[in-house]
Amino acid sequence: MKATCWHGTRNVQVEEVPDPKILNQRDAIVKITSTAICGSDLHLYNGMVPSMKRGDVLGHEFMGEVIELGSDVRNLSVGDRVVVPFPIACGHCLQCERELYSLCENSNPNAWMAEKFWGYSPCGIFGYSHLLGGYAGGQAEYARVPFADVGPVRVPDSLTDEQVLFLSDIFPTGYMAAEACNIQPGDIVAVWGCGPVGQFAIKSAYLLGAERVIAIDRFPYRLRMARDKGGADTLNYEEVDVHEALKDMTGGRGPDHCIDAVGMEGHAPGLAGAYDRAKQAMMLETDRPVALRQAILACRSGGTISVAGVYSGFIDKFPMGAIVNRSLTIKSGQTHVHRYMRPLLDRVEAGEIDPSFIITHRLRLDDAAEGYDIFGNKEDECMKVVLKP
Ligand SMILES: [Zn+2]
Ligand SMILES: [Zn+2]
Repeated sequence: MKATCWHGTRNVQVEEVPDPKILNQRDAIVKITSTAICGSDLHLYNGMVPSMKRGDVLGHEFMGEVIELGSDVRNLSVGDRVVVPFPIACGHCLQCERELYSLCENSNPNAWMAEKFWGYSPCGIFGYSHLLGGYAGGQAEYARVPFADVGPVRVPDSLTDEQVLFLSDIFPTGYMAAEACNIQPGDIVAVWGCGPVGQFAIKSAYLLGAERVIAIDRFPYRLRMARDKGGADTLNYEEVDVHEALKDMTGGRGPDHCIDAVGMEGHAPGLAGAYDRAKQAMMLETDRPVALRQAILACRSGGTISVAGVYSGFIDKFPMGAIVNRSLTIKSGQTHVHRYMRPLLDRVEAGEIDPSFIITHRLRLDDAAEGYDIFGNKEDECMKVVLKP
């Protein structure tokens, strides 16, 4: 089959690899009909995530048709059309039973590697380094889906691939970030980063009752989408002092909740940005937490900082004093996607949201390298690339 393979920093290639096979009786083989490139794939593309190997198959946002099932998968049939959640979860361990699926204790065969970095291991993830299991991803013609009796969700024929594909990651990820804020009527939510997860966080904050959402980015096309599709007010951090602007917009108090949808490759103008770039280059920190720092300092006392952006390791100048002295709450986590797929599918079916608004580029799987290039360089006002095998 054809698959999108990682070959080093800023080098992906579509090439022939062996077809996946059933390895366990709880596996399914899915013939992929649509797959997407994620902002977190760009962290792999940019060489920011350790333990990638040449030839690793990328992709954790995919859907398709079940063509083969292990004998223990009784809830699916060959021919079913399914969306696959990006975390791989067994469904039966202590964490899965608490619906903390991205913390599954049984799905990362390389747990020992993750334990060295993080103390304990989270779940395995499709196409996301050997640290997270070394599973082949779904930017390919076919994928093996472990624990297929737990993860994939059947989707109705009345909805198109493009309307349901993002149940695999970015819609639940934006939603969980907003849900973590426990939004109350009248609340103002600020969202750092107007990439795909930021856009879904904006929409979700409104779905969950926010009075007003303020979105922060530097790219005019992303800010425009936040305004036009999301209904947010926007701030360009290259044009205004974000802290002062947020203060002015919230009666001097700060937003009630702040969502970081930027993560480890944040940018900042001036000295602050240069500081993190230098520290990172000297390996004195792994991640550039410019958005996180700003979110903590800007948040209303007693508010919530919800971190949806991906961080991998260690950061510098973390304002712990603000958290302690101003009773801030930090919430984070890789998304427990399984928990959200059905309720959010219901919202799509009910017409409350059509996630396809995010798509700007549709390419053939053969052109995946071009997709990474366009998205990675934020060219052509690229927001989301969908690949069709
Ligand atoms: Zn993703
Ligand atoms: Zn589990």
